[in-house]
Amino acid sequence: MAPRAKLPEVKFSNLTKIFFPEKKVTKGDVIAYYVAVARFILPHLRDRPVTLIRFPDGVEGEKFYEKNAPGFAPAWIQTHAVARKRSEGQTNYIVINDAASLAWCANIAAIEFHPFLHRISNPQQPTHVVFDLDPGDGADLITCARVAFLVKEILDGLGLKSFPKVSGSKGLQLYVPLNTKISYEATGAFAKATAELLQRKHPDLIVSQMAKIQRRGRVLIDWSQNSPSKTTVAVYSMRGKNRTPYISMPVEWLEVKRVLRSKRPRTLFFTPDAALKRLDKSGDLFAPVLKLKQTLPKAFTQLAAAISAPPQLQKYEDKRDFSLTAEPRPTPKLSPKKNSTSGRFVIQKHAASHLHYDLRLEMDGTLKSWAVPKGLPTELGVKRSAFAVEDHPISYLKFEGTIPKGQYGGGTVMVWDIGTYRLLSGSLAEGSLKLLFTGKKLTGEWHMFKIRSADGKDVWLIAKSGQPAKLLTPRQEDSSILTRRSMAQIALDNYAQWQSGRR
Ligand code: MN
Repeated sequence: MAPRAKLPEVKFSNLTKIFFPEKKVTKGDVIAYYVAVARFILPHLRDRPVTLIRFPDGVEGEKFYEKNAPGFAPAWIQTHAVARKRSEGQTNYIVINDAASLAWCANIAAIEFHPFLHRISNPQQPTHVVFDLDPGDGADLITCARVAFLVKEILDGLGLKSFPKVSGSKGLQLYVPLNTKISYEATGAFAKATAELLQRKHPDLIVSQMAKIQRRGRVLIDWSQNSPSKTTVAVYSMRGKNRTPYISMPVEWLEVKRVLRSKRPRTLFFTPDAALKRLDKSGDLFAPVLKLKQTLPKAFTQLAAAISAPPQLQKYEDKRDFSLTAEPRPTPKLSPKKNSTSGRFVIQKHAASHLHYDLRLEMDGTLKSWAVPKGLPTELGVKRSAFAVEDHPISYLKFEGTIPKGQYGGGTVMVWDIGTYRLLSGSLAEGSLKLLFTGKKLTGEWHMFKIRSADGKDVWLIAKSGQPAKLLTPRQEDSSILTRRSMAQIALDNYAQWQSGRR
């Protein structure tokens, strides 16, 4: 960006519009807060891409997450382009490095500011670890305070200083400053291991899985925010969660302790006025988060690197709780790359919420996977949809059994066909794969190709090419190529196993 003499002027609009109904807090009040807090919040936003939460009609109207700088943003608003993962193109994140940009964002009704944990100069390096303590129904800030001290105890034991802030909603967040060379794999694994350890010790108080399991009366230690794609609400950001504005405000450990004793969580809710008054008096309690250099225990980060799933299998791992499902855990290393134009394939029949087939091709050390609702076509001229899903570990080739109800993909899985394939032409990147399958049930050529659907999503289609495939008998259709069992038998065996396990 070209240097400029002075900050641009921001034109404000609709200043009298009510944004928070309870005390008739207007949009003008929101902007005034951000102008007043600018010198405190800006160091924490500096050089970080940020997601805005905009409330054009105040907190009782619709809100939306703004990742991309809107088209009408003036040229002096700094942006940072990040290539999209799931589709073509890029997201132009706003970067807020001056008071004018902050005020401009507030004027487009951004009440909340959620920066990433890294700076634009080094998108793979988080500057801190965050533990987001999120209370379920029946739990509150006091429950979070109890959990905060349990997390602190572990961190203290490792010689790591941590800094608490209230989220301004219902929970607490602990920041562990690092400001040293570290990867998201290490911080994510560290936060996850800490959360799981605490859940094991205090199962009545703590939950560490993202899955929607019973959270009543307990606190989720959300470790998953330690990821290159996640943001956390900024310190000093206003929240749009209530009819009154509250600020995500740093607090002292002593204050957290006092709340535990007094059982009066209201003392940790800060209105904009209270927040500004406190800042004038005590300054930025979060200043050390930007400066303090700390390192996670080396033995831990090495272990984390050795046991964490490769990034290609992160999604697979995140969706599953391996204490509940018998599906294979991803191994830390991908299987060695073989010839990229051939490999094994499997088609699994899967009675999840809808019966479907899953096609998986061994490629680049994992199983590239598609859900094919109606299965592969056998006749020429028939096209079937196939939806790309997350990569699966190679060991999934022989997975047969029942995924428990309530888990991701809950239902019975049969290894319906298995064999080898050869890539005759095309590639994933080109969105076209001409495949020759040599399976036990399916043999011959199929063509898979990617199209853009009317709503802008990528969909694969799969068609039979070459010769029509031979038809299968009903018996073959419902029989495992590994064990000859039917879907019903697999489900029944699983039930019997479960019964014997209970005895
Ligand atoms: Mn499936």
